[in-house]
Amino acid sequence: VSDEIDAVLSNLEIDNVRSVLLQFSDLEGKSKNVAIPTKQMKKALTDGISFDGSSIQGFARLEESDMLLRPDPSTYQIIPWSDEKFRAARFICDVYTTHGEPFAGDPRCILRTQIEKAAKLGYTFNVGPEMEFFLFRLIDGHASVNLQDHSGYFDQTPTDPGEDVRRDLVISLSEMGFNIEASHHEVAPSQHEIDFTYGDALGMADKVVTFKFAAKTLALRRGLHATFMPKPIFGINGSGMHVNCSLMKDGKNAFFDPNGDHQLSDTARHFIAGLLKHIDGITRIANPTVNSYKRLIPGYEAPVYVGWSALNRSALIRVPSSRGKSTRAELRSPDPTCNPYLTFAVMLAAGMDGVINKIEPPENIDKNIFRMTPAERAAEGIRCLPWNLQEANNALMQDELLCSVLGEHVVAQINRIGELEWADYSRAITDWEIKRYLPNY
Ligand code: GLN
Ligand code: MG
Ligand code: MG
Ligand code: MG
Repeated sequence: VSDEIDAVLSNLEIDNVRSVLLQFSDLEGKSKNVAIPTKQMKKALTDGISFDGSSIQGFARLEESDMLLRPDPSTYQIIPWSDEKFRAARFICDVYTTHGEPFAGDPRCILRTQIEKAAKLGYTFNVGPEMEFFLFRLIDGHASVNLQDHSGYFDQTPTDPGEDVRRDLVISLSEMGFNIEASHHEVAPSQHEIDFTYGDALGMADKVVTFKFAAKTLALRRGLHATFMPKPIFGINGSGMHVNCSLMKDGKNAFFDPNGDHQLSDTARHFIAGLLKHIDGITRIANPTVNSYKRLIPGYEAPVYVGWSALNRSALIRVPSSRGKSTRAELRSPDPTCNPYLTFAVMLAAGMDGVINKIEPPENIDKNIFRMTPAERAAEGIRCLPWNLQEANNALMQDELLCSVLGEHVVAQINRIGELEWADYSRAITDWEIKRYLPNY
């Protein structure tokens, strides 16, 4: 261990790093950080850095609010957009109690536990997220929903500041060790997408958090506001975070079987069945805001109905056509406001429930579910995703497996946050109501 610490310290010196950001995530997936001068890094790596966790959303109760951040040495990255003279670097941290135990509310720890469980059965969980987001104009320094461009899917707009932000992002992230698979303009005006090459779930969750931080920072530098809000504008597509996922075993993609139906293995089918079984509870984690549910409606390429398909893009779970080592299932419901650690943790646990208990998935749906009549859907047993945050919250509370994955502390916090958020929203008087009722009543 001390060799590792020495290596980190000497890298900090070689790279001329002057300040270090110690990052971690709250329960809502917001990135938090404490900045320390490089001199403090030795202490941080050996003893950890203590902080008061009482004001962090979903963290500690007041009477036990002191916590410890332990930087994970393997997450060392220079922040490429920091001033060359005053280099900043970042580490992602694990959160510990002052008694030296992993903190039960640390999302990273919750994901690691599920990864270790799967590893005991010989499986590695790989994910490849597709990050969609809008770049809006800043007006007098404030975020707005004013569109920056009027382009569409894959459009090339050479003189657009939005394109510049995307290019800055791809360059900076590559310097930070990301493998970017692709980046393109999305369907909606001012909407963009960046796809990561798949990798292990923990490293990928770290990357998602880093990505959001980078996107916001680099957009700001060009006078734009990057937002991951799932549905900022009514009437056009919202932003999703599709998650491509697969299991590896013995160095091979365990989802691929050249002789299986659709060339999918039993493991793949069981994993998909597990995801479908637990999808209502997963939704509370993968779609954590009131606004998330305004994306999950018909007509905007977002999933609404529970089902899977090897052919159909409208399905909640789609199996893209590539096979061999790229065989994967794409869960299309998550949105980028989710906490990626918790989302990958519940996805893995749900999928493994399917694998361990050999759950059979329903028949895969090759028709366009959106074109079916409600009666046809009912006849095929196709149900809807939870309709709003309250429904999803209730579903999670009833999902024993997912509650045990998250642990008592986190479940209580998530329930509290969900109920408060829903109550607050339900009492708000919206523009819609004013327009609809004020002139008429
Ligand atoms: N933006 C769509 C969504 O909400 C997806 C569009 C796409 O990637 N084809 O999920
Ligand atoms: Mg995509
Ligand atoms: Mg997309
Ligand atoms: Mg996709």
